[in-house]
Amino acid sequence: MKRLEHYIGGRHAPSRSGETFTALDPTTNEPHLEVAAGGAADVDAAVSAAHKAFTDGPWPRMTGDQRAAVLRRIAAAIEVRDDEIAALECRDTGLPITQAKGQAKRAAHNFRFFADVITTMGEDVYRVGDAQLNYVVRKPVGVAGLITPWNTPFMLETWKLAPALAAGCPVVLKPAEWSPLSASLLPQIMEEAGLPEGVFNLVHGIGEDAGAALVAHPDVPVISFTGESGTGQTIMRNASAHLKTLSMELGGKSPLVVFEDADLERALDAAVFGVFSLNGERCTASSRVLVQDTVYEEFVNRLAERAARVRVGDPDDPATELGALIHPEHYERVMEYVRIGSAEGARLVAGGSRPEHLPSGNFLSATVFADVTPGMRIFQEEIFGPVVSVTPFTSETEAIELANATRYGLAAYLWTNDLRRAHRLARSIEAGMLWVNSQNVRDLRTPFGGVKASGVGREGGRHSIDVYTESHIVHVATEDLPVPRFGAA
Ligand code: NAD
Repeated sequence: MKRLEHYIGGRHAPSRSGETFTALDPTTNEPHLEVAAGGAADVDAAVSAAHKAFTDGPWPRMTGDQRAAVLRRIAAAIEVRDDEIAALECRDTGLPITQAKGQAKRAAHNFRFFADVITTMGEDVYRVGDAQLNYVVRKPVGVAGLITPWNTPFMLETWKLAPALAAGCPVVLKPAEWSPLSASLLPQIMEEAGLPEGVFNLVHGIGEDAGAALVAHPDVPVISFTGESGTGQTIMRNASAHLKTLSMELGGKSPLVVFEDADLERALDAAVFGVFSLNGERCTASSRVLVQDTVYEEFVNRLAERAARVRVGDPDDPATELGALIHPEHYERVMEYVRIGSAEGARLVAGGSRPEHLPSGNFLSATVFADVTPGMRIFQEEIFGPVVSVTPFTSETEAIELANATRYGLAAYLWTNDLRRAHRLARSIEAGMLWVNSQNVRDLRTPFGGVKASGVGREGGRHSIDVYTESHIVHVATEDLPVPRFGAA
């Protein structure tokens, strides 16, 4: 069994306690990794190394151009390994190999993208008449604590690493305990790229131990977290002791709204892809489909037919569209929602069980529930698997009410050919990101994030740089401004 260790101050290290945990292969649920289980002592060592790199090292003092050159070398080091990264990710998370390859390419792109951001970002300057010049200096905030989830782990780790490093912050990364494998390539990648020692640190471990210790550490002024909304609440409570800066990308239950005037074939493609790609383990999954009553039955039937044809199988097989869910505990949770949906009276029109040809591992057929109502738990709660609920609506007003009827507000997808309606709904639907007649494609410069229980703050482009820098204003008088002369009379 492969063993994974921490990486602290440029050295691989076991846990101070000697403790380990095992990670499972999701296709068999056999242990395939033995991983160092970090605790407060390991986190403390990693934070000390990062803090030293912050106070004494070159990284925060380099120019944006100098850091960008290292980021571009990191991107290149990822690119030469992208097949290996995809293969590890596929093995560790059950993600279909073709989709894992796309995610590995995006990881390299994240570094190139933030290299460009940091070299092109100007500083804000305010001139008040001829008398005053005010300008903003951005400084890296200090050691950044990065806590990441198990879905598309490598890509999401780089989505935080790239801007934190671009901004000049040394980092301590705590990857999710169910998907630690791909992160183990990062130390070599960072060394090859010439990142100074102590700037990148990696501590594996269970969230409540290693993650909580990072959140509690006084020398970590910023935590960037992606994960469940409930974990986000815990982190916010614990981080309040030190009034830390928090960036939180949390859960979702995103609606895909189909009006009768939409191109139904394209809306169907988007609905199927939006909820069954990445195994449905996707924060922006279109897990609630809302359909106008006049086309409802037709849409439900076509969605059920398409779901039944989604190819579930070995994640290694390039033909597979839906692989294995991450972990038996998660699989049980998703299966429990399938039971809940049926018990609540929703109509199961596709899937709902393990495919016959896959007797073991965390496999579930693409599952569709129709006639779902807002009071049902499968409408309200994030399932984070290949399960979609379909609900009819009659009017635009009802569509908006249903779209907004959960605690989440991450993404929304609108399918209509009525331009004015699209703009009206775009303003009324509570979501950080909304797509009209499109699947989830985005420009990385735009702010990514959610409203309500789906997040706090935004990441992407300069919004990410905002997370990892403090803005300081310098006010300079360029003429003799009057100064009140107290005590001079
Ligand atoms: P999770 O909240 O269980 O775990 C996320 C990370 O937090 C892990 O590294 C875990 O070890 C750590 N953690 C757990 N408890 C902690 C604590 N008390 N203190 C500090 N760290 C702790 O989430 P998950 O199950 O790994 O990921 C799935 C969730 O992530 C879903 O809700 C999904 O919607 C969300 N997600 C959101 C986005 C987004 O951009 N909005 C992207 C991907 C995933």
